[in-house]
Amino acid sequence: MSVSIDVFNSGYKPIPNPPGWTSPRQATWPATTATLISGTTDALLVDALITTSEGERLAAWVQASGKDLSTVYITHGHPDHFFGAGPTLAAFPQAQLVALPEVVSDAQRSARSLESWRAWLGGQFDEKAAIPTVLTSDELEIDGHAVRPLALGRSDGVLNTVVHVPDLATVVSGDVAYNNIHMWLWRSTPETRTEWLATLDALAALRPETIIAGHRDPDAPDDDAQRVLDQSRHYIEDFDKAVAHSSSVADLVGRMMERYAAYGNPYTLLAAAASQFDRS
Ligand SMILES: [Zn+2]
Repeated sequence: MSVSIDVFNSGYKPIPNPPGWTSPRQATWPATTATLISGTTDALLVDALITTSEGERLAAWVQASGKDLSTVYITHGHPDHFFGAGPTLAAFPQAQLVALPEVVSDAQRSARSLESWRAWLGGQFDEKAAIPTVLTSDELEIDGHAVRPLALGRSDGVLNTVVHVPDLATVVSGDVAYNNIHMWLWRSTPETRTEWLATLDALAALRPETIIAGHRDPDAPDDDAQRVLDQSRHYIEDFDKAVAHSSSVADLVGRMMERYAAYGNPYTLLAAAASQFDRS
């Protein structure tokens, strides 16, 4: 019996009135993935996007797989990974929306303080979205293949967990690793960046061949684990050094763009850079 993985990518979505953005280019939210892990008949979905319209597209995509969805597993408590679950849960009423205990707490906290999310994508998501409940077992299973949720550590502000499918040497990484997209270092500090690097080490220790990043440029060349790990590490290290040497937001953005101009979602870099000079 086999297990397979399919990835839905939301693409970039416009942010109508992004704080601090003066470029003529449309500011966008990073392209986000939801991953279906399927056996012969059953399937499990990892993460569920944020807006209602992309949630509807996701539900139709899962239905088109013809599988019975038993579980929607949420990697971490940021709304852009679970507020879009509604249409999928409506299409599969038997499916359970679950997460590890600390992620459930983070998700509850996120749902209580939506101020920033309203500024970015207000009106596009369901403010009364379902909150995951605590997953009661350590292991999920698809057709006899182990599917392991693992808490690896903090990355972009909250505890991040990943889903390891050892038989496919694959990890669905949530926001621990990014693939060809600027990384969410908004309000990061030298300490949180060091923590994130340690979390990447924990991901590397699983020795995956494939990493499905929670934020992935739709045109990224592949999901090669080594490439994704290396680029995520280097990006954080470079941002850390650039912050230490920069005197302004523009200076910091300029230093990063020298190396990362080809990456998706420059708004992420602007937001991250601005947060380093605004400690209010
Ligand atoms: Zn995210």
